[in-house]
Amino acid sequence: MPNRRTFLKLSAASAAAPLLNWSPAASSASPARRPVVVSTWNFGEAANEAAWTVLQQDDGYVLDAIEKGVGRIEADPEIHTVGRGGRPDASGTVTLDACVMDEHGRYGAVAALERILHPAAVARRVKDDSPHSLLVADGALRFARAQGFEPQDLLTDEMDAAWREWKEKNPDAVPDPPEANVEAQDTTSRGGAENHDTIGMLALDAQGRLGGACTTSGTAWKQPGRVGDSPLVGSGLFVDPDVGAACATGWGEAIMRVAGSHVVVEAMRHGKDPEAACREAAERVQKRSDSDNVQAGFLALRADGQAGAYGVRSGFDMAIYDEAEGNRLVSAPYLVPSAGAE
Ligand code: ASP
Repeated sequence: MPNRRTFLKLSAASAAAPLLNWSPAASSASPARRPVVVSTWNFGEAANEAAWTVLQQDDGYVLDAIEKGVGRIEADPEIHTVGRGGRPDASGTVTLDACVMDEHGRYGAVAALERILHPAAVARRVKDDSPHSLLVADGALRFARAQGFEPQDLLTDEMDAAWREWKEKNPDAVPDPPEANVEAQDTTSRGGAENHDTIGMLALDAQGRLGGACTTSGTAWKQPGRVGDSPLVGSGLFVDPDVGAACATGWGEAIMRVAGSHVVVEAMRHGKDPEAACREAAERVQKRSDSDNVQAGFLALRADGQAGAYGVRSGFDMAIYDEAEGNRLVSAPYLVPSAGAE
């Protein structure tokens, strides 16, 4: 199984699919680059591997692949920004946000959900088995239980100890306003003391069905009740099956301010290639941000299978898996270097 890290510019990595003459209307007629899956950060490679076991089947369904892919990261206690093993909020409670969209553009999400290992799977049930789109907190937990999800403790001993250490140093801290919190945390690159990340995944299955999901424990030590961009349609995720899909990671307060994933998809609709579309969203985040230390990264997967990514700052990676080149990690182009980088 190919599994290698490359440092190619994404535009080069994804050059196989022609951009010229692409339009949403023509996409169904043009030969698709599929199946293909992209996901955020270096843990995206493991997520892609899991998703690929479904995508490589002719009838593998895109959301089955995505649920399996992000589920691997949700269940990994060594990843401290998603699911079990995620950092808790300021009160020491792990709360989770997740969202899915399918090949019809249908959306389901949960926010501030506690004690459920696979929030993206619950988000999918919200989409399919409820008349609603977004359920939060205790209502989301009650729905999950009714759907057969068993509550469990998601706070690992390691993260409990980290929270206690933080609490001791910050006995009265309420990490608000958010932009002040940005300064307190190194949010700029994978190399720093990472306090938040999202596994965002976009995929196109062999039948041409497009979908996406994102799932996260949000920002570390966040104010109880805080919800990030991830479960908000158009911010953390957006799928328009006629055009393409996009997802986001980074400082949620900055991403939701510009509805970042919607920006990406709309830019593709108007003819930008996936990388340029992600760049447009990154520029908007930077322009509207109150802090010069904000990181946000965007992934895009166009309906013809062409992928792209862009970060506000250096350090953002896209994991991409397709038949032609296997699974690899690609450094996203960016607007500005992260502090201390290069
Ligand atoms: N966007 C997520 C949030 O704000 C965190 C991240 O992806 O870094 O909750």
